[in-house]
Amino acid sequence: MKPKTPSPVWHPFTQHGLGEPIPLIDRAEGARLYDAEGNSWIDAISSWWVTTHGHANPRIMAAIRDQTERLDQLIFAGWTHEPAESLAAELIRITPDPLTRVFFSDSGSTSVEVALKMALGYFSNIGEDRHRILVLEHSYHGDTIGAMSVGARGVFNRPYQPLLFDVGTIPFPAAGREQDTLDALDAACAEKPAAFIVEPLILGAGGMLIYPAWALAEMRAICARHGVLFIADEVMTGWGRTGTRFACDRAGVIPDIVCLSKGLTGGAMPLAVTLCIEPIFAAHLSTDRARLFYHSSSYTANPIACAAANANLAIWRDEPVQARIDALTEAQGAHLAMLAADPRTRNPRQLGTIAAFDIVQPESGYLSSLAPRLAAFYRERGALIRPLGNTVYVMPPYCTGAGELAHVWDAIAASLDMVA
Ligand SMILES: *Cc1c(COP(=O)(O)O)cnc(C)c1O
Repeated sequence: MKPKTPSPVWHPFTQHGLGEPIPLIDRAEGARLYDAEGNSWIDAISSWWVTTHGHANPRIMAAIRDQTERLDQLIFAGWTHEPAESLAAELIRITPDPLTRVFFSDSGSTSVEVALKMALGYFSNIGEDRHRILVLEHSYHGDTIGAMSVGARGVFNRPYQPLLFDVGTIPFPAAGREQDTLDALDAACAEKPAAFIVEPLILGAGGMLIYPAWALAEMRAICARHGVLFIADEVMTGWGRTGTRFACDRAGVIPDIVCLSKGLTGGAMPLAVTLCIEPIFAAHLSTDRARLFYHSSSYTANPIACAAANANLAIWRDEPVQARIDALTEAQGAHLAMLAADPRTRNPRQLGTIAAFDIVQPESGYLSSLAPRLAAFYRERGALIRPLGNTVYVMPPYCTGAGELAHVWDAIAASLDMVA
């Protein structure tokens, strides 16, 4: 379970000073992670929300292997390759008609940076002075400087706040107070910002906060009325997490810009795309080099990652993915309902395959010692769960078996006694 020697690795979102054990994982299959000694853990958070069809999916692994025999990497400025071309075409086919262009990058954060730059580039190129960005309270859009700027301010980014740019924050559409959100957005949109960026239907890192589809649809309509670009960050919600392929589908919302990553490759390879409507591309289309879209990273549209994404899309095409999602959604609902009756829990909530609740306790917030104590408790019981403060959530791969899911929820039930 422990690395053999003191490791030089500096882990993300990890306080090394607490001396928590860091399991050394050797292989993974389906919903399970294994170490070399034969211990296993059920990956109840899909390795941070990326693994959709399960680890080491045979079709995705085969696609990666095949691609490694043909083309490993290619400069993407002015050159192209078949895996990227077919992926882009398929993404355009499965998303609403107004989305016509696909820009590649390599992570959720970079897809957000690209979205922001597209929005600002659009207004700059059409000669409109719009550069302010509106965001939703409690949002998370990634950890690069631009993505942090459009996310909630807090302990996560306090040292970097002097570098973060100013944004307009719209209150979260909490149950019963949705109209306040809509009014605030309407007022903020009247001041001619460039874009509004949202996590559709559920705010992930902000604590699995869910809001209704009609509120999302209204927010979209307000932006359209004011000519404000509507950016949907579907990095977490995409690929079936919320019960439909994209969360925007549930609300009948067509964004101007969409960010996709995490489940894009089924969780096997780092890759992201930012899709946009034709006028944004058209505003950059010119014989003038000064108007081109100045963004790239070395591994943009890496062919092996694109091959993995194409395999993911093939799985969506020819396997009963929706039926698996529906079954998991139902099973998650049943487990959550059993726990919701316990007075030590509150705010049970579910959207598609994501189920969450809060543990009743005096202290709350991310820094409370509860989250790491819970994570350790689950780890010792063979489950990978990483609570957000006192919010416990389960977001497993769609292949998770009934017995595996029951094991996870049993560990959660036992953890309530541990807290008490
Ligand atoms: C995870 C996440 C991101 C950032 O993605 P990375 O690949 O970690 O950079 C952005 N937006 C949302 C909604 C996310 O959940």
